[in-house]
Amino acid sequence: MPFTSLGLSPALLRAVAASSYTTPTPIQIAAIPAALQGRDVLGSAQTGSGKTAAFVLPILQALEGSMPSRARAQRVVQALILVPTRELAAQVGETIRSLAQHLPHPPHLASALKVTIVFGGVSINPQMLGLRGGTDIVVATPGRLLDLIDHNAVELGNVKTLVLDEADRLFDLGFADELKRILTLLPTARQNLFFSATFPPAVEQLANTLLHDPVRVVIPREPLGSLGEPDITQRAIAVDAPRRTQLLRHLIEQHAWQRVLVFVATKHAAEIVAEKLRKARINAEPFHGELSQGKRTQVLADFKASRLKVVVATDVASRGLDIAELPVVVNFDLPRSEVDYVHRIGRTGRAGETGLALSFVSAATEAHFYLIQKRQRIDLILEHIEAFEPTEVAPDRGPAGGGIKGHRPNKKDKLRAAAALTQPIPLT
Ligand code: AMP
Repeated sequence: MPFTSLGLSPALLRAVAASSYTTPTPIQIAAIPAALQGRDVLGSAQTGSGKTAAFVLPILQALEGSMPSRARAQRVVQALILVPTRELAAQVGETIRSLAQHLPHPPHLASALKVTIVFGGVSINPQMLGLRGGTDIVVATPGRLLDLIDHNAVELGNVKTLVLDEADRLFDLGFADELKRILTLLPTARQNLFFSATFPPAVEQLANTLLHDPVRVVIPREPLGSLGEPDITQRAIAVDAPRRTQLLRHLIEQHAWQRVLVFVATKHAAEIVAEKLRKARINAEPFHGELSQGKRTQVLADFKASRLKVVVATDVASRGLDIAELPVVVNFDLPRSEVDYVHRIGRTGRAGETGLALSFVSAATEAHFYLIQKRQRIDLILEHIEAFEPTEVAPDRGPAGGGIKGHRPNKKDKLRAAAALTQPIPLT
């Protein structure tokens, strides 16, 4: 199906063409016509599926339609997009700005519409200034938005469309209370576009109360590799925990990888692994929540521009980062849950590109990895790499994990052991 069949205006078709989108992705095919009709949408889709454009294009079309009347009045917030992280806020903002460039605008205005991006962790003052004179679209993380509301810097009484992007992550990051407060400040008659990769009970419940007769769009996670969906090869390598950095270096050198995103469990591990790589003359930087916003922005910009070969990140980076053509993601420490696993590996194989997701599995985390695989319905062979064959034996976890004495624990034993294991093992 071509973009021209979705009901988009000529200006937005030009915007789509200028972005080199040739055919709409499945979520765009399903969500755009429904959203253009003003329907609520409940989308189950991963990052990388093209969901940002799926909600941005209908919002822009509505704003384009109301342009003549708005041109005479002060700008008021028409669309509110709530996201879990600063990086995602910046990315969504960029997509809006780039697609909005093609909208016609009244001669007395510099641009057709104003987009304001607000997030925590940086000074509030420039954001307050940015909201002066009103704005058309706000992209925000919930906590900072409430701060701005409390400072009377923004008013939500005219919001026509609310987007919740990565709703599951909003809950994971503890934004439930903030979300509830924000919802009470919005007009009840509005359109809701709700996107989430997963639907745990809290998200399901919010969707049920929030949405009116939504069009449901389910983009299956599997099979990977179909049109418009990421094509990710998943592999798992058995390695002793203390030898993981060496193995990482070996793989980077052997395969001449130019850009690798490495996930670890803690900020400390991010610092240590990056430092070890730098000592081995591999250009690497840590990326975690304790870095200043300026530093985080710089690391991302350097990585995008290929000035950095490796970024060693905590899960703060696992959502929402859209780094084109990221070929390799490595789980140096395994993620805590299968949900985080999906988000981490989703950093590679973006929109039609191919990617490789590698997990390092040590004796102590093998059971945990089986659990992730089971929940993800994947079954990977634990590979051995020459000169890095594992020698460690899984620690005894008592009756739940030990299996029958003298026997190798079977898959069920391993699953039970994994259920008892809540945290990934620390870096050694
Ligand atoms: P998202 O899932 O919104 O994070 O989008 C993932 C990536 O796909 C972004 O880099 C978009 O620019 C890109 N993209 C979105 N829609 C299309 C499309 N129809 N064709 C090709 N690329 C797209």
